[in-house]
Amino acid sequence: MIRKLIRRVLRLPTLPHGGAQALPLKKHGVTREQISPAALKVTDKLQAAGYTALVVGGAVRDLLLGRDPKDYDVATNATPEEVQRVFGRRARIIGRRFRIVHVPFGPEIIEVTTFRGDTHDSHTDEETGRILRDNVWGDQEQDARRRDFTANALYYDPSKQVVYDYHHGLQDLEKRQLVMIGDPERRYREDPVRMLRAVRLSAKLGLKIEKGTDAPIATLIPLLDDVPQARLFDELTKMLVSGAASACLEALYESGLYKAVMPQLGRVMASPADRAFLKTAMQATDDRITAGKPVNPAFQLAALLWPQVQRRWEQLQGSGQSSIQAIMNAIEDVLDQNRGLAPARLSGTMREIWSLQPRFEGRVGRKPFRLLEHPRFRASYDFLLLRATEDESLAELADWWTKFQEADAAEQTKMLQPERTDPAKKKRRRRRRKPAGEEGGPDSAADNMDDGGDE
Ligand code: ATP
Ligand code: MG
Repeated sequence: MIRKLIRRVLRLPTLPHGGAQALPLKKHGVTREQISPAALKVTDKLQAAGYTALVVGGAVRDLLLGRDPKDYDVATNATPEEVQRVFGRRARIIGRRFRIVHVPFGPEIIEVTTFRGDTHDSHTDEETGRILRDNVWGDQEQDARRRDFTANALYYDPSKQVVYDYHHGLQDLEKRQLVMIGDPERRYREDPVRMLRAVRLSAKLGLKIEKGTDAPIATLIPLLDDVPQARLFDELTKMLVSGAASACLEALYESGLYKAVMPQLGRVMASPADRAFLKTAMQATDDRITAGKPVNPAFQLAALLWPQVQRRWEQLQGSGQSSIQAIMNAIEDVLDQNRGLAPARLSGTMREIWSLQPRFEGRVGRKPFRLLEHPRFRASYDFLLLRATEDESLAELADWWTKFQEADAAEQTKMLQPERTDPAKKKRRRRRRKPAGEEGGPDSAADNMDDGGDE
């Protein structure tokens, strides 16, 4: 800080990595081999074309923490058009507010960003201080200052195996803390989503949000009201699939940030049973991610909104609607109240998971076999198991379904519950079946043998 000040006062020329500490391999331990081959291709090719190109952001931070990076970002002094010239057609310039280049290598996409200049040069809203467009290019030092947290402003040069650290990011990582670069309040005003990023990164990486970085959040939450819903939803989804959804949920609630993302969560988390349900659901996904299994955010969103669906479902049944009718109406009501949390691409799956729940109660005749065949059976069954972990009255039902799936046809038939004694129905069935003349056992069993044949 003082060195920078002296240099500025004396108007000394800016060094190539002005203001940065250049940390050699023995100080940070990240070798070139640890970087993804796709990211290496991007930095090597840009450097060969005469540009500066470095791995930056989350990937460097994660490698320093001994974690596997989720994806790679590259920062460069080449403009988006110049990057495109180096990589040709495959490279796509995307974004308006923040133009970046996507360079795909097979399934991996490397995000290449051009060094950003100082905030006062970018397009900000005079009244709120919010950054509206951010496409003013700058040098690496300015770019570092524009990043959110000190640990995210670390640059790695794979050809030299050097880390450039402008804001003591490495030291903060060693102290296990997340520290905003510059004045936290001003930085949150520029982009309120940084508050959500603080919560997510701290939960995911087990870093403490440093006091000064944390302090302004409580009063600045309303700033998120003006952030487009799609961006908020994007952040929420990142939390859900971060592998630390359970910790993120708690942090969202404790910080009060839930009010901006999912206001209904306040009421849900105030109920110990619902809170336990949500924690279990998020933990289950976190465990899946740890085990390398795929996760679908629709399942988690279905869980997040379930306490609301369930409450409404019970209410509507109380007012005389049938179980199925009531859940269908409850689903529509809850989706209506939580618009923005269920975009069309996910709400179909959420609807299916929810609407199949009452169907697990049908354990007679062909019903269970039909449910087994439903394309959304697996997710809905997992959802039932989740419900059963917090609701003892569902334990027997969940168990039954676990056994039913694994049983062979004969066992399945034995497991079915007797048909309800609806005399009118029974009579009709008998008449229909008699010609086949094959019924040996009780009515329900015969019914189910037919089902078995259909499978
Ligand atoms: P993740 O592990 O989720 O990818 P990340 O820190 O890499 O975390 P990205 O969204 O990929 O997050 O962003 C890449 C980098 O861009 C960040 O490390 C940070 O330096 C910078 N950045 C991202 N969003 C912001 C923001 N809202 N304000 C300032 N800098 C940001
Ligand atoms: Mg990233």
